[in-house]
Amino acid sequence: MITSELIKDSQQYLMNTYGRQPLVIVKGRGTRVFDSDGKEYIDFVAGVAVDNLGHCNTRVVVALQKQAQRLMHVSNHYHIEPQIELAKMLVKHSFADKAFFCNSGTEAIEASIKLARRYSREVLKKDRYEIITMRGSFHGRTYGSVSATAQEKFHAGFEPMVAGFRYVPFNDIEAVKQAVNEKTCAILVEPVQGEGGVNIPAPGYLRALREICDKNELLLMLDEVQTGMGRTGKLFAYEHEGVTPDAMALAKGLGSGFPIGALLASNKAAAGLVPGTHGSTFGGNPMACAAGLATLEAILEDNIIIQNVSALGDHFLKGLRALQKKYPFIKDVRGTGLLIGMELGFEGKDIVAACLKEGFLINCTVNTVLRFMPPLIVTEEEIDQLIEALDSIFRKR
Ligand SMILES: *Cc1c(COP(=O)(O)O)cnc(C)c1O
Repeated sequence: MITSELIKDSQQYLMNTYGRQPLVIVKGRGTRVFDSDGKEYIDFVAGVAVDNLGHCNTRVVVALQKQAQRLMHVSNHYHIEPQIELAKMLVKHSFADKAFFCNSGTEAIEASIKLARRYSREVLKKDRYEIITMRGSFHGRTYGSVSATAQEKFHAGFEPMVAGFRYVPFNDIEAVKQAVNEKTCAILVEPVQGEGGVNIPAPGYLRALREICDKNELLLMLDEVQTGMGRTGKLFAYEHEGVTPDAMALAKGLGSGFPIGALLASNKAAAGLVPGTHGSTFGGNPMACAAGLATLEAILEDNIIIQNVSALGDHFLKGLRALQKKYPFIKDVRGTGLLIGMELGFEGKDIVAACLKEGFLINCTVNTVLRFMPPLIVTEEEIDQLIEALDSIFRKR
């Protein structure tokens, strides 16, 4: 089918929930994707921080092929081999004692909300349920997660929201202290706010939150759906601060594109979730866990991947900061590892469109922040090519 017809059918047959770019991506290899007209792009979106190993990583593809021939699905009424192996591996390489598997980021957050409330009631025997979350956060689109998301634009028209969330400004420890009351059971926070515009808190922020949690018997729950799986230059972003959370949500990069989410937690925090309290038909599905296992093995065995992220990120920031010096409409450049934002003094959607023309996929969030989150295997040359393209696009403004 020709591209214009595909796009016409897309608009006719799919609900109008996305503002989509005018192309159909049909193939991906490494850092490159190809559209239905055969045009090649360098991918600085990576499926929104999903394709961390690049597109169609051989190890993941082979793991999925093998698993598809062996067993695609069984119920969680039974023990599932790849699920056990993935849980064991995640526990070995994180703070956690246990994992719960689901299919997306929002479901991992839902699980964390349920875990926190059950922990307070069943383990601490205290009737507390309120969770403190941060302004500018993004935790997902289902009702619990979107209620935890402290951005009104995601609530508009969907009210009433789920009760039990208290919003405070991001990166403001005093505000958190003020917000804790006899109903508070947990704090939920992204180590770096992704959708909120690549907002990086001051050093020591997570540690200060940890202290507040310890003092008040609250759970510290991290949303590492976007920052996890090597994105920031460590396997998990909390490692930068040496802080131990009680629970952590993962998804995006965990399955290299195969849908999977996970909630990791300490034995203590998970103690309230007993048989019958939570579940998911597809959660921990053999295919998803085979993808997760191959992804984690690839990241851990090929040390280079994570080791390179910080250097590549620094190189990227340097290039973008050079542009900032040239163009006064660039308000800020910030990032950690390969999660990078460039804040503009105007809406970024024309820049996204111009990059597309030049053969680069980039993203814009909160209208004015260009966001770059390429596969972790991106090269310095590819980064330089994008910066050159941005330079010529900015020059024409
Ligand atoms: C993407 C994202 C989510 C939601 O994940 P879905 O898989 O889209 O449900 C939650 N939290 C953060 C930080 C995210 O970036």
